[in-house]
Amino acid sequence: MDFSFELTKSDTKTHARAGIIHTPHGKILTPAFSPVATRASVRTLSIDDIKKTNSQIVLANTYHLYLRPGVETIKKFGGFGPFMNWDGPTITDSGGYQVSFLYNKKETNDKLQMTNDKSNMEQIGKVTKITEKGAEFSSYIDGTKHLLTPKKSMEIQRVLAADIIMAFDNPLGQSNSVSENTKAYERTLLWEKQSFEAWNMNTKSVQNKFQALYGIVQGETDEKLRKKSFDFVLSTGFPGVAIGGESIGSDPKKTAEALNTICEHLPEDKPTHALGLGGGPEGIFAAVDRGIDTFDNTGITRMARTGILFIYPEDGGSKLNKFRVDISKTKFKDTKSKFSKICSCDMCTNYSTAYIHHLFKSGEILGLRLATIHNITFINNFMEQIRQSIIKGTYFEYKKHWIK
Ligand SMILES: [Zn+2]
Repeated sequence: MDFSFELTKSDTKTHARAGIIHTPHGKILTPAFSPVATRASVRTLSIDDIKKTNSQIVLANTYHLYLRPGVETIKKFGGFGPFMNWDGPTITDSGGYQVSFLYNKKETNDKLQMTNDKSNMEQIGKVTKITEKGAEFSSYIDGTKHLLTPKKSMEIQRVLAADIIMAFDNPLGQSNSVSENTKAYERTLLWEKQSFEAWNMNTKSVQNKFQALYGIVQGETDEKLRKKSFDFVLSTGFPGVAIGGESIGSDPKKTAEALNTICEHLPEDKPTHALGLGGGPEGIFAAVDRGIDTFDNTGITRMARTGILFIYPEDGGSKLNKFRVDISKTKFKDTKSKFSKICSCDMCTNYSTAYIHHLFKSGEILGLRLATIHNITFINNFMEQIRQSIIKGTYFEYKKHWIK
């Protein structure tokens, strides 16, 4: 088995930890961010661009790649990594989030459509039925009917061939009633168990290279459900622990609340991943404080495409402005200086702030690409600095530098 988690150093005041995830495609130095390549592409970036952002991992979506180009195409390449020419570590999600959530998020898409930003719209199909067996849905591409089950998700993820794969789950959302959440929780337990069994069969086959299956902790901020779900994931024997649900998606306080129930009992030999962790640098600190090793988030690149750029404390970033500015604001129209004093990305090294502003005002594609490069580089460098501070024993001081 060529997958393991090596703990390098733990922080003394929090549950923050620096480590190394060893995978068949190389190491991931943690804590680390994974950019999202939904359809085997980090939107607007070439493979060289992705590498220049110091990215260590990419995450792709099972749901989207299953529908297009389909498993038969990916199979010919030996995985989505080779298909997109990425040779580093990879992650796939299980499709559980898409079938459970996206249809309910239609409202968000309507709003995006109003702003004319079609590139940011999640293309989704209609989920017709969710039963104990799985989720029935119609394709957003051609309307064909599909049934996604735990076993099917494992089969697709085997073909996508990521180093880290996720159990098929049924997250619901914090706005739902207790009984709805309990139902989703019970279904998740059943689906995860079936995922584990299917994965276990696969790993026994000699031809199959090792993929680490993460069990997903659900239950939102319901402390009892989260704890129970966490115990289930640990006792089943998943090689890694993922945290899902809406509560880690936006509000750092909610993230903290959801993670508080489990951070005391995180095993030292299993890596943790936060699925869709939001809240910018503040949310990241809340998660790292509670033992999160890796996370993905589509907002970091989506924001870039709408001109929302991250800024360091050295460039005026604070809790108040959420460490970001809107580059399309008129105040940047004549700013001749670089966007950041300290960022070493392609955008900040080669262009003036006024030029980036101009690209956004003119709707130039180059603007979207450069902004995406900046935001991903920013988060990756931020994670590297967090890692170094944990190793040096200065994590507390480093955090104070950001959140005063
Ligand atoms: Zn930059």
